Amino acid sequence: MNKFEQLGLSESLLKAILDLGFENPTEVQEKAIPLLLEKDTDMVALAQTGTGKTAAFGFPLIQKIDANNRNTQALILSPTRELCLQITNEIKNYSKYEKGINVVAIYGGASITEQARDIKRGAQIIVATPGRMQDMINRGLVNISQINYCILDEADEMLNMGFYEDIVNILSTSPDEKSTWLFSATMPQEVARIAKQFMHEPLEITVGAKNSGSATVSHEFYLVNARDRYEALKRLADANPDIFSVVFCRTKRDTQAVAEKLIEDGYSAAALHGDLSQAQRDGVMKSFRGRQIQMLVATDVAARGIDVDNITHVVNYQLPDEIETYNHRSGRTGRAGKLGTSIVIVTKSELRKISSIERIIKQKFEEKTIPSGIEICEIQLLHLANKIKDTEVDHEIDNYLPAINNVLEGLSKEELIKKMVSVEFNRFIAYYKKNRDISNQSSGSERRERGDSEPREFNNNGAVRYFVNIGSRDNFDWMSLKDYLKETLDLGRDDVFKVDVKEGFSFFNTDPEHTDKVMEVLNNVQLEGRRINVEISKNDGGGRRDHNGRSGGGAGRSSAPRREGSFAPRREGSGGGVGGFRSDRNSAPREGGFRSDRNSAPREGGFRSSTPRTEGGSDRAPRRSESFGDSPRPRRPRRD
Ligand code: AMP
Repeated sequence: MNKFEQLGLSESLLKAILDLGFENPTEVQEKAIPLLLEKDTDMVALAQTGTGKTAAFGFPLIQKIDANNRNTQALILSPTRELCLQITNEIKNYSKYEKGINVVAIYGGASITEQARDIKRGAQIIVATPGRMQDMINRGLVNISQINYCILDEADEMLNMGFYEDIVNILSTSPDEKSTWLFSATMPQEVARIAKQFMHEPLEITVGAKNSGSATVSHEFYLVNARDRYEALKRLADANPDIFSVVFCRTKRDTQAVAEKLIEDGYSAAALHGDLSQAQRDGVMKSFRGRQIQMLVATDVAARGIDVDNITHVVNYQLPDEIETYNHRSGRTGRAGKLGTSIVIVTKSELRKISSIERIIKQKFEEKTIPSGIEICEIQLLHLANKIKDTEVDHEIDNYLPAINNVLEGLSKEELIKKMVSVEFNRFIAYYKKNRDISNQSSGSERRERGDSEPREFNNNGAVRYFVNIGSRDNFDWMSLKDYLKETLDLGRDDVFKVDVKEGFSFFNTDPEHTDKVMEVLNNVQLEGRRINVEISKNDGGGRRDHNGRSGGGAGRSSAPRREGSFAPRREGSGGGVGGFRSDRNSAPREGGFRSDRNSAPREGGFRSSTPRTEGGSDRAPRRSESFGDSPRPRRPRRD
């Protein structure tokens, strides 16, 4: 009997779960499902997004619905249209072997008549945003007087967005005897008030620590001068060729400006904010989901409800006004057990906010330095080599091989490799040579006081940096790789530092006295049948022991910028290119990049089209409803 069977789920649900490939219930599922199946009860569940809570309420709900009765029996309220559609989709997937269950999504920005028609056909489960739901109740288009179940999903988000009155009104229209299941990541007063007013002795379950960040997300900050903020963002993207990220800005204007600059510089980026029309937002989200956009630049409000799996990084280009919002931002990554990184680009004046956030998320930030030009160059080069190695050959090219062989005749393997890599790389090197290194700041005494840093004598450039052919693809993050290296090499706690994990490879530092051991031991070790290969890297990783909270306090900052250590390639690309190398504007998109459409002719300006500019009159104060196509009433003014 598998673990799902033990929860008491029906055959048809178990079959759907098998199709979905869920092997084991998540913590919230394990806790909530048996309780909800056993009896009709109210429940308050504290769980972050990405913990599997849709199934935690979805499975028992489907099992309890009477498929032979066409009346509306359950209402699920969720904060945004995006989320509403996702839940609807999930419920449809879960109930695919359950005959006769109808789920309808209702949300603003779409035809109310059509939605009313769908409901009239018989919808046992309605998934709705509160604004549109209230609207439909007022117009008599929906009847929830018979519902047995009401689910408030992401209750804190809904209240944050000003839906309090709508929720109260909706709940007041529904029968007292129903069961209410409330899911929320946090428990602010307003949520507690709703629970108190509308729920009867709710069972409480908590997943993970209250208000804590997800254990699968690691948090990093980069201290920079305010003028270098954008440059820092670009370098972070360059140092992570596989980045698939949401970049948060505070205002719509900044969001648009950063996205436009990124696109101009050849990155595959797009803006998402409330001044865009619904159709524009849909287009952006479609491209993001399809991974044609690597960097989605968004406001907090517009990014609510983004539920895209496998986001590798959340970038806080600017910290939010309210630090609680940080939790919501970082929760976009590290979902469904995957590892993710939340990056903060911070200036000295904002540094104290980092400590406040650490208290809220109950996790420490790691202070890091913006990678130098030479480090980025090495990462990109190795990424390219990996990409070449992993590329599957389409045998269509076999026909052309004789001709190609003719052209390349006489070149040795070595020469051929060098030339192939140089095709992509020469331009890149040329770019970075021209540009200055950006000035990394150090949090200095502020962080050292908290015992996070080491004394300055560690602040040396004498460390040896290594490249090793294992990375996140082998399920390592910097912490687990550091542990693995320490154990394998039998080294002490602080002997391995500056561990940087990329997809197919990683870097780390040791002091020179360990070099022989590292080379000898690691080059003779196998990981799951694969030989580990370690080499000494040309770059020194910034020379600082700044990983793992061991900041050296600004090493190298006083020294003259190294010639090779400074670049910010201007990617005049189509958004294509192998793993972050963008091709020239007029060249064809290359294999492996993030392109909008593989089959079409190359387009000017790459992803320009995926970042719709704001239409005329953008100075006017936009109505909040424009962000969602719904009509929440804002309770707290936000800078969006
Ligand atoms: P949620 O918290 O409901 O938004 O779920 C986050 C993601 O986890 C979704 O993509 C779900 O499909 C996935 N998921 C939910 N339950 C499980 C499970 N038991 N095993 C694996 N993935 C799951």
